[in-house]
Amino acid sequence: MPTASGAAPRPHRARAEIDLGALRANVRSLRARASGAELMAVVKSDAYGHGAVRCGRAAREAGASWLGTATPEEALALRAAGDRGRIMAWLWTPGGPWREAIEADIDVSASGRWALDEIVAAARACGRTARVQLKADTGLGRNGCQPADWPGLVAAARSAEAEGALKVTGVWSHFACADEPGHPSIAAQLRRFHEALDVAARAGLDPEVRHHANSPATLTLPEAHFDLVRTGVSVYGLSPSPELGTPADLGLRPVMTLSASIALVKNTPGGHGVGYGHTYRTPGETTLALVPLGYADGIPRHASGTGPVLVAGKWRTIAGRVAMDQFVVDLGGDAARVGEEAVLFGPGDRGEPTAEDWARAAGTIGYEIVTRISTRVPRVYRDPEHEPGGDAEPGPGE
Ligand SMILES: *Cc1c(COP(=O)(O)O)cnc(C)c1O
Repeated sequence: MPTASGAAPRPHRARAEIDLGALRANVRSLRARASGAELMAVVKSDAYGHGAVRCGRAAREAGASWLGTATPEEALALRAAGDRGRIMAWLWTPGGPWREAIEADIDVSASGRWALDEIVAAARACGRTARVQLKADTGLGRNGCQPADWPGLVAAARSAEAEGALKVTGVWSHFACADEPGHPSIAAQLRRFHEALDVAARAGLDPEVRHHANSPATLTLPEAHFDLVRTGVSVYGLSPSPELGTPADLGLRPVMTLSASIALVKNTPGGHGVGYGHTYRTPGETTLALVPLGYADGIPRHASGTGPVLVAGKWRTIAGRVAMDQFVVDLGGDAARVGEEAVLFGPGDRGEPTAEDWARAAGTIGYEIVTRISTRVPRVYRDPEHEPGGDAEPGPGE
């Protein structure tokens, strides 16, 4: 297919095609379900492997008023790439970098006094007012401030606010079991969140945004939407859990399609061992096709013998072990051409498997399947609204 510039596309070993039109449609669909709350597109870990800068920009265009990252480095990289909107980073360790984040107008997060103290010191050092969001542990038991320590954290934040060192812009928390509708922890977490909000209000804090919902809560729990929803996996078109339905059931479309060029096709006799450990033997005379992707590319080694791939019009199963750079599929005597496309996963409408099929095959979740695709696989962006024909970009880190 000709590209916009008319040049022939580069032949590829493998590629992860990123459909930015689907991403925008997912953001619009999520916003429509968010009861008027603002939407934060979570772009941590390079947008779950999809490319944070391109996906962040597309999400903004579709109405995401916030971008969310785990680490401050991820947030600073978005600023360096020119993003001017609200950005929040929530996973901090001693040393920050607080000052760089404050100077870049990133909303930082504090789950305990040590973080608040470092934020106040950094804000004083650079003469700026830090934007701080306080995180309550309403029951997840991971990051966040325990209820017993919350009044102390809130009081310290309020006095730093009075002094001008910071502004508390948000109070927030995170669910443990939102992907299991009706789980008793959900109501308990919401109750504790309301209590945490009451404590903050009584101490004189007036945060701009209160937020608790990830993708599953955005999709199933309107009473958790508050002022802002933080959607990650659903922005990339995956269902947070098969129990909640397929992406199509939820109004979503998978954004990533992972494919590779068949590197070799050969006839082999029956009884031939395949790959390390010979965990697969050809049951009879057959054709084997070599797929040039391995665990260094993020293909789970746990999918050895189980991972599905569309080759020559049919689902095939990985024969033997996934190696670092390659694996083999048994075509059962069918023909395939060298250079023909093998599709590992995508939206599913060309008959290919989905990330959810891979999650099942590897005993994991769709989140991990897309996020682990490594920088050795180039991301190729399809953007019907901006660049008909799509363009290739080097993979992140290349
Ligand atoms: C990753 C993450 C999210 C997004 O979760 P999804 O289930 O992918 O929507 C939201 N909030 C926090 C704190 C996160 O770490």
